[in-house]
Amino acid sequence: MSHEINLRDTDLATFEEKVYVLADELLAILKDLSKENQKQVSSKLIAEKMFLKESVKIALVHSSSTSASKEMESLKEIANLILDRFVELMPSHMTENLSSMKDKFKDHEALKNSTEWLDSPITILKKYINSITTRNKELDEFLKQTMMYLAAIEGHLTNELSSHQQKFKDDRSFEENISSNVSGIQQSFNASGDFSNIKAAVLNKIENINKGIEKKRSQDMTRLKEAEKTLGEMWERMNAIKQEADEIRKRSQEIEFESVRDKLTGLYNRKAYDEKISQTLADVERYNVPASLMVCDIDFFKKINDKFGHKVGDLALKKLADLLRERLRKNDFITRYGGEEFVVILSHTDIKNAATAGEGVRSYIDKSVFSYKNHHIPLTISIGVSSFRKGDDVTTVFERADNALYLAKRSGRNRVKTENDVIAEGAVLDQATPAEP
Ligand code: GH3
Ligand code: MG
Ligand code: MG
Repeated sequence: MSHEINLRDTDLATFEEKVYVLADELLAILKDLSKENQKQVSSKLIAEKMFLKESVKIALVHSSSTSASKEMESLKEIANLILDRFVELMPSHMTENLSSMKDKFKDHEALKNSTEWLDSPITILKKYINSITTRNKELDEFLKQTMMYLAAIEGHLTNELSSHQQKFKDDRSFEENISSNVSGIQQSFNASGDFSNIKAAVLNKIENINKGIEKKRSQDMTRLKEAEKTLGEMWERMNAIKQEADEIRKRSQEIEFESVRDKLTGLYNRKAYDEKISQTLADVERYNVPASLMVCDIDFFKKINDKFGHKVGDLALKKLADLLRERLRKNDFITRYGGEEFVVILSHTDIKNAATAGEGVRSYIDKSVFSYKNHHIPLTISIGVSSFRKGDDVTTVFERADNALYLAKRSGRNRVKTENDVIAEGAVLDQATPAEP
């Protein structure tokens, strides 16, 4: 403590002095507390400490014997404390008007050197209120209400965020409202008159402040709700758009898939074949890589249709497609060329390996069972194989395979023939096609 003061009535001429003593005491307490605890000092802790401070208690007890004029003085002091507190609590852009109102404490040395004690004027006042309860219950109640309102203001103001332009406007009018009401409090205190009039006037001003705060809070709530609603709507719209986009993407993928697929069998269609064979011809031309073509035709397919009907014929086509897919490699390009004719493009495969692959798939189909309503229906294919050559076009390479297929048919069906076989067996091509079984 900078100065020792005897706190007896006689030594304390004015209430102002008592307030200074309280301020000094509080300052000392805060210094102690900040030594103990580097973190923010809680008001509860201050209250506990303050309660223990004998000198504070004495000061408060002795203040109870003050006269009516002293009472007015005390109210003025409290008003100034309140104003200081407002300055502390309000956003910086709102303090200009208020700072001109607070003056009295500025000269006092202890207060000038540290603003720490201002952190808890409410605590001082609470203690003060407690001490005067026995003397003036009405005043006590009034000050308690004041404290309650101030606490509410503190709560609202510290939660303030002022970023939005409209919000800034609202803040301005809010500030004006508070300022004018606070000036009103000051004027009420300064005005002469009996205590109950002052009380009513001040309560009215505080009530106005509180209304302003409530209005502002409801404005903020409305704004928040609107923002949430807009956000929700945007979210919903975004989801709808996303869903729509997903569907469009899915559909276009389906269309793309369908455009190159044969509906009945799911194999590549003629359009896909045209593209693939052009690409293969280009590769052979440019990179001189081997590639082969396999033309497959169902043997006596007409008989299946004739005996069991077109629907069963379709089932046979599906079955055959499955068997081709099962037996051939993934990168063998299987197409339904037309009707009951299937063409396979085998990349990176020479004639010998293509013939082997052909023989593999032919025997696989031969061994498989295609049945319909307890009827075992024979399902075999004949295959003609050719190999891509430089200078080939879509027709030439196909023709050689087709000739080989023709040879396979003529040689008895359910067999594989290559373009080499055509050359080797050219002599017997004139032979009649074997009779149907
Ligand atoms: P070959 O061993 O000489 O090839 O005898 P084949 O009966 O298979 O030959 P042909 O070309 O005379 O008969 C082919 C038949 O395939 C004729 C046609 O009705 C049938 N066909 C073509 N496309 C389809 C189809 O999509 N579904 C069905 N069910 N039959 C088809
Ligand atoms: Mg045919
Ligand atoms: Mg046929």
